[in-house]
Amino acid sequence: MKIVILSGGVGGARFVRGVAEVVEPADVTVIGNVGDDVEVLGMHVSPDLDSILYALAGLNDEARGWGRSGETWQTLETVAALGGEAWFSLGDRDLGLHLVRTQALHAGQPLSAVTARIATALGVQTRLLPATDDRLRTWIDTAAGEFPFQEWFVGRGHRDEAEGVRFEGAESAQPAPGVLEAIDAANLLLIAPSNPYVSVEPILAVTAIREALAQRRVPCVAISPLIGGRAVKGPADRMLARIAGGTSPRHVAGCYAGLIDSLVLDEADADDLDGLGEVRPIVAHTLMSDAGARRRLAETALGVVRA
Ligand code: GDP
Ligand code: CA
Repeated sequence: MKIVILSGGVGGARFVRGVAEVVEPADVTVIGNVGDDVEVLGMHVSPDLDSILYALAGLNDEARGWGRSGETWQTLETVAALGGEAWFSLGDRDLGLHLVRTQALHAGQPLSAVTARIATALGVQTRLLPATDDRLRTWIDTAAGEFPFQEWFVGRGHRDEAEGVRFEGAESAQPAPGVLEAIDAANLLLIAPSNPYVSVEPILAVTAIREALAQRRVPCVAISPLIGGRAVKGPADRMLARIAGGTSPRHVAGCYAGLIDSLVLDEADADDLDGLGEVRPIVAHTLMSDAGARRRLAETALGVVRA
């Protein structure tokens, strides 16, 4: 059974790992968000791709939720001491990956090729594809102005309420090689419990990807990133309240109108299933607190085709 997962960073990576643990990892293709990519200290950083890579390679820091375990920060301390660009946390181990990626990009390799090479070097059998090799960047519109994603998220600690989201470069961005083929070959399409606006929407902003999902002939299942109407971490709940007008399952499903057949939602949200329309609710325990929980959530999503 071939599975495609659309995924952002932390929440997505946890779920992707769960899926890759309960099926043949090589049968899974992850389409990752690149709207958060950022140039820091002359390096190209792809935070969401890296969260997925580290999770699948078992190198991630579970407690912190992002970056590598056993990380140290001496390079960044030196950068800060020298008055350099130190607002974006890059650990010493993590930096090695950014150096390799940046050099390859400068040499003209596409992001998809260097991502594949790094995944192989890390022993990752699951295929990880950036949504696009083209430049696509998320911008956040707020009352204080429009900010590049990381400046809003990390730089300003996402304190400004997001009024809207824009994806620079999306009009002309083409899916990375293999993306449409993977969707076409899939028996099941999954949307990870990632932030709908800033993790999944930038993937769907690539027109051909959205169209491929809209025209699917196999089930597409999204997993809600909210539990009891609250994000486990990050601004997804505030964004849904502000932009969609609420944090009920129908507001999450509304982000994927015409693209999903089922929504896996938490028991804590099961009392308000109004307005889901054609979307079938699947109630589950969705907090991926440990390996068992993330695998059970993966099994729940897979149940749509296994049953
Ligand atoms: P980012 O790119 O690092 O921000 O990560 P994602 O967009 O992939 O994930 C962020 C979302 O994951 C947040 O909205 C969280 O609510 C959600 N999330 C994190 N852990 C869990 C979990 O265990 N269960 C569920 N249902 N959602 C989670
Ligand atoms: Ca992200």
